[in-house]
Amino acid sequence: MNLDQKTKLGPLILVGAFLVVLSPVFVFISKAADPCARATFDYKECQAKRNAIAKEIQRNRELAAQKKKEVEELQKIISQINADILATQAKINGTQSQIDRANSEINNLNSQIAQKEKDLAVEQKNQNEAIRVMYETANKDALEILGGSENLSEVVTYGTYLEALEVKIEKTINEIARLKEELEQKKDELEKKKGELERLRRELQGQSKALQSQKETKSAFLNNAKAAVSQYLTAAKNAESEMANIDEQLRRVARGPMGNLYGKYVATGDIIGYEGSTGNSTGPHVHLEARQRSGYNGDGNIDDFIAIGYGNASNPASNCSIGLPISTLQLNFGLSKPLREPAYVTACFGWGGYGSGQWGEKFHGGVDMAAYYGAPVYASASGKVVFHGDLGAWGNAVVIYHGNGLWTLYGHMI
Ligand SMILES: [Zn+2]
Repeated sequence: MNLDQKTKLGPLILVGAFLVVLSPVFVFISKAADPCARATFDYKECQAKRNAIAKEIQRNRELAAQKKKEVEELQKIISQINADILATQAKINGTQSQIDRANSEINNLNSQIAQKEKDLAVEQKNQNEAIRVMYETANKDALEILGGSENLSEVVTYGTYLEALEVKIEKTINEIARLKEELEQKKDELEKKKGELERLRRELQGQSKALQSQKETKSAFLNNAKAAVSQYLTAAKNAESEMANIDEQLRRVARGPMGNLYGKYVATGDIIGYEGSTGNSTGPHVHLEARQRSGYNGDGNIDDFIAIGYGNASNPASNCSIGLPISTLQLNFGLSKPLREPAYVTACFGWGGYGSGQWGEKFHGGVDMAAYYGAPVYASASGKVVFHGDLGAWGNAVVIYHGNGLWTLYGHMI
């Protein structure tokens, strides 16, 4: 083999080696990929997968809620912009009608001015004519009068009359001119006002346009946020259906022969069953009961648990009240909640623990909690399962012995 052949074969050898090395890894990964599949079922791994998916659902729901908030904020902003657009439009309309009024007033003044101009022209013409006639007559008469009159006072009177007439005519002309000027001034003022109104209208139109483009931008954001919400919700929904499949598997296992937990050790938070309404139950819920015997040194046998007695059960919760969300419920003995939120207390421990109704006056040996039918029930503490099966009034139940004389019982499961 020469150097050339070596160079050509080099990459092929590398690829081959790569495949040889990787193929078992692939097999391993694909085998480990679904611990909930029938053939490769692994109770613990499947539970871990379920918890991971539950987290994914939670995360997607949180993101969806966040985006939903964004949607609501944007919707608020857009409706404010819409209100602003409407208000601006109303202002524009108001300004427009003011402009229209000014225009009609201006038109009115224009025709009044035109009328005054006409009156002025006529009056001017009349005056000229009157004075011409008067002068002609006056001069003629004055000469005649001067020629044959015995009384000069007549001439004087005539002249005075003429003068008075001139003054009167001039006064009328001045009055008309003054009125015309007044109208012109009024018109100027109106034109000025109209100009201001038009400027205002243009400004408002500019504002309206800016608001419109703001609205378009926000609407685009809104659509994106809405799309994101549905994307997250779809992701959550897909994860939920995947989780439902896993739960179905777990349920099958938990109820089936290989899934019977009797004798097995469970950790805190392991799924030990599913909320149901078996036994004496008016609806789906989990009955959590704790029993403690101090100084007990036995192996947690179910008979020892029963022997403590129904009425001597220990109170599993110290701040119980019906309707309380389990998030605020304080469990005793360091127990964790057997259900995930949202879940609520439906009965408390002790006499009258059921509240009122059919069971009102009876003694209740545990705390009842409800989420939904089929909700996973988690071990409240680690320990050995000393009973799994039908336990009479408690229905399908699991009893776990935690050591130090402490047992917990989970009743009414599917
Ligand atoms: Zn109960």
